[in-house]
Amino acid sequence: MARTETDRCPGVLAVHQAADGGLARVRLPGGRLSSAQLDVLRVAAAELGDGRLELTSRGNVQIRGLKADGPQELSDRLYSAGLLPSITHERVRNILASPLSGLDQESRYDVLPVAAALDRALCGRPALAELPGRFLFALDDGRGDLADVRADVAVRALDERSAVLSLGGRGVRVGWADVPELMLAAAEAFLAVRDQEWRIAEVGADRVLERLGVRADEVADTSSTRMAAGVHGSALVVTVPLGSVTQDQAAVLAQGGDEVRITPWRSVVVPVGATGLEEVGLVTQPDSVWEGVTACAGQPGCAKALADVRTDATRLNVVRGGRRVHWSGCERRCGKPAGAFVDVVAVGNGYLVDGERL
Ligand code: SF4
Repeated sequence: MARTETDRCPGVLAVHQAADGGLARVRLPGGRLSSAQLDVLRVAAAELGDGRLELTSRGNVQIRGLKADGPQELSDRLYSAGLLPSITHERVRNILASPLSGLDQESRYDVLPVAAALDRALCGRPALAELPGRFLFALDDGRGDLADVRADVAVRALDERSAVLSLGGRGVRVGWADVPELMLAAAEAFLAVRDQEWRIAEVGADRVLERLGVRADEVADTSSTRMAAGVHGSALVVTVPLGSVTQDQAAVLAQGGDEVRITPWRSVVVPVGATGLEEVGLVTQPDSVWEGVTACAGQPGCAKALADVRTDATRLNVVRGGRRVHWSGCERRCGKPAGAFVDVVAVGNGYLVDGERL
């Protein structure tokens, strides 16, 4: 399927002009942020944007409401903080890694160092700057938490020696030493066979595998686990209601330890023992009504929105027996989770919940 639209995926240098001002997306390979970097983002949001940090479904951070001179100042600050290591590749550093990797007993292999190595190698390949901004790499430490993120090139740990590299659900067993190179080779093979497509699923994994010269016959494990708020080994998973981090919340998260990890589920991993979290509205227990609730930008951030979905989600929290709930300001359903969810969509004079009026 050839695309006719331009890839407008936002970044730090390619800021999207939204209804509420500029929107910059900061890529965080593996979701990692030092506390000092989180503080740089917090201050930048306060001084250049609307004050909040938005967590995305790919473990990245967005700053909204940038004024006219905001993008230049923001990119200077991020560069100084080590958050903009490549000018040419900033929008293609889309690398997810299991956020609890190396921190609890579920981890078969610590994939965070692999994510860092993949990021460095990716930025060192000039041709890969041409990847679409939506192209996604995923490194699952074996627990299956990234099974439904719809990665283009996925790796799932089997043990400390080997993993399964998969495209389109079919995989090949590989050794860890070869993983970064093979993931990049798959991305290069995609670029070689694509026309205007953005994702491997659009060109067909078979064509990419053939170009790669790989015979993939292992079926990739697609079982998925969900990471709830609470203590996991040496880590504490903290859910951020609607993924919108306030100034107070960012300050408390940055004080919790040397590093935080942003997850693809609008939560943040901090060390066990971090304090002051509940007091600023963050969630540290798995039974919160906020668990699994997401929303698109809605009004006033999006010109297409028929409602202020974030305010309404807070006011009318729709709970459906532990199922995920996603609020959308229109039928595009931006940011909807993978898999099944309760669909709450604005229709101008109210909402439909799974097709029925709320
Ligand atoms: S779902 Fe609609 S209202 Fe929400 S961000 Fe996307 S386009 Fe805007």
